[in-house]
Amino acid sequence: MLNQEVKFQWEKLVAQINQDRIAYYIHDNPVSSDQEYDERMHELLELERQFPDLVTQNSPSQRVGAQLEVGFEAVPHPSRLYSLDDVFEMDKLDDFDSAVDHASNSVFVNPGTLSSDSHTSFNLEANKHEDSNSEKIDAGKYLCELKIDGLSVNLVYQDSFLIKGLTRGDGEVGEDVTNNIYTIESIPKRLPGSINIEVRGEVFLAKKDFETLNRQQEELAKPLFANPRNAAAGSLRQKDPKVSASRNLSFYAHGVAGEVDYTKQSQVYELFHEWGIPISPYNRVVNTIEDAKKYIEEYGDKRSEIEYEIDGVVIKVNDLGLQRELGFTSRIPRWAIAYKYPPSQVHTKLLDIQTQVGRTGRVTPFAILDPQVLSGSIVSRATLHNAFEIERKDIRIGDTVILQKAGDVIPQIVGPVLKLRNGTEQIFQMPTKCPSCGALLVYEKLGDADLRCPNSEDCPAQLVERVINLASRKALDIEALGDKSALALCENIISSIENFFDLDEKQLSQNAFFVNLSGELSKNARELLSQIRQAKTKSLDRKLIALSIRHVGPNYAKLLVKHFPDLDTLAAANPDRLAEINGIGPEVALSIFDWFQDSRHQAIIQSWKKAGVTFDSDSYRSNFDSDVKLPLFGLTIVPTGTLENFTRESIKVTIESNGGKVTNSVSKNTDYLLIGKNAGSKLTKAQQLGVKVITELEFVQLLESPA
Ligand code: NAD
Repeated sequence: MLNQEVKFQWEKLVAQINQDRIAYYIHDNPVSSDQEYDERMHELLELERQFPDLVTQNSPSQRVGAQLEVGFEAVPHPSRLYSLDDVFEMDKLDDFDSAVDHASNSVFVNPGTLSSDSHTSFNLEANKHEDSNSEKIDAGKYLCELKIDGLSVNLVYQDSFLIKGLTRGDGEVGEDVTNNIYTIESIPKRLPGSINIEVRGEVFLAKKDFETLNRQQEELAKPLFANPRNAAAGSLRQKDPKVSASRNLSFYAHGVAGEVDYTKQSQVYELFHEWGIPISPYNRVVNTIEDAKKYIEEYGDKRSEIEYEIDGVVIKVNDLGLQRELGFTSRIPRWAIAYKYPPSQVHTKLLDIQTQVGRTGRVTPFAILDPQVLSGSIVSRATLHNAFEIERKDIRIGDTVILQKAGDVIPQIVGPVLKLRNGTEQIFQMPTKCPSCGALLVYEKLGDADLRCPNSEDCPAQLVERVINLASRKALDIEALGDKSALALCENIISSIENFFDLDEKQLSQNAFFVNLSGELSKNARELLSQIRQAKTKSLDRKLIALSIRHVGPNYAKLLVKHFPDLDTLAAANPDRLAEINGIGPEVALSIFDWFQDSRHQAIIQSWKKAGVTFDSDSYRSNFDSDVKLPLFGLTIVPTGTLENFTRESIKVTIESNGGKVTNSVSKNTDYLLIGKNAGSKLTKAQQLGVKVITELEFVQLLESPA
């Protein structure tokens, strides 16, 4: 007997899942994250496993997708479409493998005797081919495919003509999107011969096309799509096929329905390929479940390099006879399973927006988030770059936001889930005064996106950041000096990095942080002093970074050391001399020059020298065996339009610090036109001259690529 509480729990889950499905499948605008949805589905399946009486025909566990709403004409699929069982842990794949073995032991598969269990019958005999590889491929037990995060469709070919393109819908009935499917150029409208066949596959948007689409949406002041899946679904389900046509949708086939005379699914794909039906180049036939796990690991690492979004890997029994033997449940095939990668996007609450002051005075807003696990780490903060970025994305305190990792590394807020707003959300205002020292914040130049604290010498936050930077791995690499020790040092021991190398036991014991319970200097504090001594002779490029000269990070530091034998020669160089260096632009040259002119900075250098810090590049040269490698070396780039993550100044600095040259106009000598929002006439010129046009994402990928 079911108790009321269990029934109530089940009903609540079903209602929530149905609501999620409508938002996701029908409106292409989910209110829950995939992770939340998956958790609910698994909870439901577990509840129904414990209490089988709960299962009804209408339970989401027995159905696929969502029932259609008014919109497109509802058309029954000639044969049913299914969803996929999913697992999130590798171990669970062993159960699947055992079930497959069990079925394969109990059946002798004879391709000649296969009978169709579907409604459509087609004969591929005429196209059957014997290529030399087929035997090798035939040896494989599983077919591994990337699980494309797109929209499932069924292409119905009758007498070789594409007569219907249907969305999956609830698996039995789909929406008729034939006219929109016709606009996808890669899908053939006619196949060779006279064949009746259903080709199943995924319609999706490549990452670069997704970026272009969102830029267009922004220009038209329309809401942005949160991810390529929603964008693809929204694009295919357009009333006007012209709109679908403009979206550059792609397609890969991943299934077939009907009677197949072939014995392997991989052979069917080969045939599709010959017919001109797009097949993913990443598909791979493997012999064992262990090999399938290796495939999962391989593409887990390469996930960000794939040109479209994937959310997992699908492992399919390659033998069609065995597939038939294993069959289907009411919702899923038993011959395939999806391994889902950790989500690349999650939803979380934006609890607050605070600001932090960097080592050069830049004031950056950042989000305090309800902590969430994302791509293997807990994320509780994310930078929001600047006030314009917050306004552009309309992010408010109290919002539920979509969080993702850019390039799988840096947490980034995509935007708010507008539907979940309840009116209590608050619009964020940038402070007018420095949150650390109270100085009035300023924009340095007209058009700057960043506010800065001008109190560079006395602002406590800037000092702490400078000490942290000095100790960082890329600078002097002082392991014993972490964030907390830096705070303690700046509390009452040092008031500038000028006396950093003079630190001694007496000074450190002034702060309880460096003292142990018996009142002596702690082990870490002694280690700190020893590491400070060792740092005095580290390479010159590291010291340049440690000095916190604006713009000078590892790339510039290496370039400078390559061109100047010691610090004194560098300090004496005028801006013209600095700008002669390939890779250093006038702006950065001026900034370096200015830094050395400041008497307070000269005092730092004198004091460090007095303490025994070496500033010649000999010690560096002997350690520095390879040439400077800059990813944009020798490239001329023209940035245009409004970029999402760079200001006009910072894009210039980024290009130059990575070895590239920035020019203002497009010519045949331009290597890349980097386009942001409202790219305008430069884009037209680049297209006329055949100059390669890249998006911001492609630019970042270029930066990350090895030089
Ligand atoms: P699914 O997306 O997990 O798997 C089945 C689908 O995978 C197939 O229909 C097919 O279209 C697709 N697929 C992609 N590549 C494939 C390949 N190579 N071979 C075979 N199939 C491939 O199942 P589903 O039932 O469509 O949707 C469930 C998933 O959708 C959830 O796990 C969740 O990620 C998402 N979802 C999210 C919400 C939400 O509110 N956020 C709501 C509903 C569904």
